[in-house]
Amino acid sequence: MTFPFSASFAVVFTLAPHSGHSSSTVSSLRPPSIALLLGNTLALAGLARKAPGRATVSPMSHAPLVVLDGPMGTELARRGVALPAPAWSAVALDVAPDLVAAVHRDYVTAGATVHTANTFRTKRRSVGPRWEELARRAVRIAREAVGSLRVAGSIAPLEDCYRADLSPGLASRDEHRELARVLADEGVDVLLCETFPDPTEAVVAVEEAVRTGVETWAALLPTTPASLRDTARACIAAGARVVLVNCVAAKDTLPFVLALADLGVPFGAYANAGREEDGIGWGADTESGARAYEALARTWIAAGASIVGGCCGTGPAHIARLAALQAV
Ligand SMILES: [Zn+2]
Repeated sequence: MTFPFSASFAVVFTLAPHSGHSSSTVSSLRPPSIALLLGNTLALAGLARKAPGRATVSPMSHAPLVVLDGPMGTELARRGVALPAPAWSAVALDVAPDLVAAVHRDYVTAGATVHTANTFRTKRRSVGPRWEELARRAVRIAREAVGSLRVAGSIAPLEDCYRADLSPGLASRDEHRELARVLADEGVDVLLCETFPDPTEAVVAVEEAVRTGVETWAALLPTTPASLRDTARACIAAGARVVLVNCVAAKDTLPFVLALADLGVPFGAYANAGREEDGIGWGADTESGARAYEALARTWIAAGASIVGGCCGTGPAHIARLAALQAV
C-alpha cells in the first residue's frame, strides 16, 4: 500500500498555538516505526485495502459520530480578544464573557454535540486565587449557551502543552484534583483531560478526573504513534472512557488516529489547522479550508474514529463540515 506521508514530517505551529506560547517546531517524526505500526494497525482494522487519502467513510464506521466543538482560544483571538499568557483564554472570562458565549453558540449552530467549557487555563498556577470563580463561570457560560447538549470541562497540562519537559509529573496531582472537583461540582457531563504531552501528568489528571465520578476522556498531544498508544493504554487503565489525539497538524494526524484503534474504547481526533500554508484554517475561515479539514477527518473516520472535532486554527465552518458527515 502507499501512504500519503513523506519521509519525514514535523508538527509545526506558525501562528497562535493552543497554549498562547510561541513554540514553533513541536516534534519531528521518522516514519520507519510509523510504517510498521500503520501496516499492523491497518491490517487489524481491515482497512489495508483502502487508500487513506480517499475521502470515503469506511463501512466499518458503525458508531454514531460524536462531533466536538472547535477551539475557544484561537477563535477568541480571531475575533479580536487579546489573550496574553499565562491566563490566555481565561482572560476572556473577565473581559469578553459575551464573546465566549457567542463562540459556544456558533459551535452549536455548526452542529457540535459536545462543547468544552473555557477552563483550559482556569488553574491556580495560571490565573491565581480566582481560579475557582473563573472555572465555575466558564462552565455556567457554556451551559447557558449550549442548553441540553453535553458540556465538557477542560483539564489541561499545568505548564506549556508543547513542553513535556516542564511537566511537574506526579507533583501535578493536587492541582488537577482541585480543578476536577470544581468542574464536577459545577455539573459538567464530561471531564476532558486534553493536550497532555507528558504521559505521567496525563495519567495523573485522568485519575483525578475519574475519581470525581464524571465520565472522563483523555486527549493526548502526541510525539510518536507508539508512545501515544502506550499513554492511551495507561489512561484507559486509569479509567478514561475515550481516547483522543489533539493539537497536532491535521495533515499529520492519521497515523496517530490509527495508533488509537483497537484499544477497546471509542477514539478520535481534534486536530490543528496546521501550517498557515496548509490552507486549512487560521483565521481564513474559508470553505476551502473547512473542506480540506473534512477530507482529512474522513480518513480518521475511515480508520474507525467515532469522535471528531477541531483544535487550534479551525473554527465553526470546520465543525459544520464534520457535523454534516453524520448524515453520510
Ligand atoms: Zn490545539
